[in-house]
Amino acid sequence: MARRLAGFSEDGDLVPEEVAYLREVYSRLRALQTRAAVVRWMAGEGFVTTAGNPWTTGVLTRTMLNPRLAGLDSEGNPIEGAPVVITPEERQELLALLAPSDESASTDGEQDERSEPEEREWLLAGPATVGSCGLCASPLTVFWAAAEKPIYRCPPPPPKGAERENPAVGEAPEQSCGRISMSAPLLERGVAEQLLAELLRPEAAEHLEALLADVIAEIARLREHRKKAERHLQRVTTTLRTAPDSMRAGLLEAQKAAQKEGRDTRTRLRYLEKIVDVSPPLGDAEALVAWWEKAPLASKRALVALEIIKVSVGPGRRGPNPNPHDRIDIAWS
Ligand SMILES: [Zn+2]
Repeated sequence: MARRLAGFSEDGDLVPEEVAYLREVYSRLRALQTRAAVVRWMAGEGFVTTAGNPWTTGVLTRTMLNPRLAGLDSEGNPIEGAPVVITPEERQELLALLAPSDESASTDGEQDERSEPEEREWLLAGPATVGSCGLCASPLTVFWAAAEKPIYRCPPPPPKGAERENPAVGEAPEQSCGRISMSAPLLERGVAEQLLAELLRPEAAEHLEALLADVIAEIARLREHRKKAERHLQRVTTTLRTAPDSMRAGLLEAQKAAQKEGRDTRTRLRYLEKIVDVSPPLGDAEALVAWWEKAPLASKRALVALEIIKVSVGPGRRGPNPNPHDRIDIAWS
């Protein structure tokens, strides 16, 4: 007997709670989380497949790419009146993100974690996104259609009529316009050129030092905060053990909030601790450019994070040899 597809009842109606977490899966994949990371998140939330098993990357991939999720038949044609969990456009995005690369092509069975593609990292998107849409200010995401060049783009808004009664958890309430996109290499190169020019200004070294001092101060603050937060969590957890039933709900809520805060603080700390290691050679254009070309992406990201608050990308103009700098507006720290 064919298994029920997640998101749909046996009669083909939507199952709202499953739709909600599949939407969240979609959001996380679109944010370039790896399948392994998404599966870990699902396990942590206690989600299981319709067969009652833990999700695996293989099952997740097959489910998310199942055409029925987007209201399509096996040929990819829309099925009249079919309910959808993701739109056909969103499915295209997932196809681009999840299409197996040659060496990890596995037609069936569970994919093991080693075949998971590397967590993709971009200069201007990811954990601390500085790329933003010049029209609607939404964070830019990287869209990488297979075999094409990656582009930064303002994510397309959900199509009219696809507004869901159960908006997915964690989805941004405000809508992106989807009207800005720019080749990733072109945008990254443009930003790098402006950043290096900025770093060659006479006062750059002093400025960078001040920025680093701010980060170091924030790290100290966060470490202190983390200690207090850990003690608080411990107290809540201890109280919870002997608390009367009437207090449990509130305490559990407090425990959850404290755990989340702890995670957020640790993430921010790890991020900042990486940033403070960066030390580009300033004052010598050639050395700086050579450093940039060889530097690991993490160092470049660190420098971007230090020096740049936001990179706004404006609409492109048609014409011969458009200048990418016309579209890039950088807010410096
Ligand atoms: Zn936009």
